[in-house]
Amino acid sequence: MQFISTRGGSLGQYTDVLIEGLAPNGGLAVPAEMPRIDAAELERWRSLDYIGLATEVLGLFATDIPRADLERLCDAAYGAGRFSSPEVVPLSDIGEGLTLVGLSDGPTLAFKDLAMQFLGGALEYVLTNRDSVLNVLGATSGDTGSAAEHAVRGRERIAIFMLSPEGRMSEYQRAQMYSLHDDNVHNIVVDGVFDECQDLVKRLSEDIEFKRTHHLGAMNSINFGRISAQVAYYVWAWLRATDEVAESERAEFEVSFAVPSGNFGNILSGQYARLMGVPIRRLVLAVNENNVLDDFFRTGIYRPRSAEHTFATSSPSMDVSRASNLERFIFELLGRDAERTAAAWEELRTTGQIDLSAERHRFESEFGIVSGTSTHDNRIATIREFSDAVAVVLDPHTADGVKVAREYVEADVPMLVLETAKSPKFANTIAEALGSTAPVDPATRALLDAPQRLTEMPNDEAPLRAYIGEHALR
Ligand SMILES: *Cc1c(COP(=O)(O)O)cnc(C)c1O
Repeated sequence: MQFISTRGGSLGQYTDVLIEGLAPNGGLAVPAEMPRIDAAELERWRSLDYIGLATEVLGLFATDIPRADLERLCDAAYGAGRFSSPEVVPLSDIGEGLTLVGLSDGPTLAFKDLAMQFLGGALEYVLTNRDSVLNVLGATSGDTGSAAEHAVRGRERIAIFMLSPEGRMSEYQRAQMYSLHDDNVHNIVVDGVFDECQDLVKRLSEDIEFKRTHHLGAMNSINFGRISAQVAYYVWAWLRATDEVAESERAEFEVSFAVPSGNFGNILSGQYARLMGVPIRRLVLAVNENNVLDDFFRTGIYRPRSAEHTFATSSPSMDVSRASNLERFIFELLGRDAERTAAAWEELRTTGQIDLSAERHRFESEFGIVSGTSTHDNRIATIREFSDAVAVVLDPHTADGVKVAREYVEADVPMLVLETAKSPKFANTIAEALGSTAPVDPATRALLDAPQRLTEMPNDEAPLRAYIGEHALR
């Protein structure tokens, strides 16, 4: 399968776009043609375990990776011991027509593990074939950094340099990252806030010479490897939600998904699954107080906000005001027209917004997308209600998903809410909701007490360049 840029031009095959990230013209990699899954194929996949299903779904995109190799990569990502649930992605009923899709049973208790575990192995595979190395440079405010580090730790051809803001992450998130002692994992704690970390990454990545010399790359949410790996769990969740449906009705049986969203990566994978033919009725986009995307889906006007207008909320992994993956959706909305997509981003650059209000009526009717916002009070109330009613402690992001999902539940359409993290990561918010601190289990205690390894740095380019120069793989 060939890949193209949303702003025009061809980008090669799957293994090429895994390594490259952004297209040279600033666009994002998308399949030249969306693969299709028909009803008969879905039925054939029903008996597969998660590894088998992920191999089939990824195989639709990764046509340049031999099937046996792809299966081995999926087995390494999702096999023995990587995820605490034997199904990898378990579904559980929480009442009111809602079902949780358990995406957070991986090593860092967030849904990002599902894509990162695959991406880490796939990158190592491609680098081995090309006899090359990659130094991943990134900035994190929490979940991305730990999921990426846990996906590359101990690998031979990848090192990771992850910048995190001093004192801004939860104790649990810090422990997940800083307790790693692998030689190829570099935790750099910057005396600054997240945006300053991201600025440092940006400046080094834009220095083409430095980037090339040190084989710098990224594992961020625009990487197509992540998008493709996420499609697999939408297919899985539809299969599991329809296991009990009469065989004659399955092919047409629709479910809806509610997705706690930030960068629009997760829900974009759901849109891909829907475009590929999985019977999905609605995709319910849930955001927190940073509601740029809710505004967009209500008005058709996309107006990203600057860092200083981004609130720090109690669902911090959704504190995004510029959703990079939205470009892939707009590309589909504009009939896969690269010229119109490029023009839209030019409009954004010159006017600060993209006005698609003329297309607004198609968001729901053609793409099934509806949206809503959840605030701190909503989140706290939702955590409390479901703890009382069904003894399930939702993490704050999942609670945002549940809050908005409830506004769109329809009779006879299962509403599948993606559980994007587990609650122990956000103990303070849970304590605020439930009035008491949840007892710390032994595994969490051990993690919090483990010795930590990190390098402190001022908010300054020079020492960072020197550090990478010294520690990068070559
Ligand atoms: C990253 C993250 C999100 C947002 O996902 P996007 O793909 O950026 O939309 C939501 N919840 C949690 C817990 C996350 O870590």
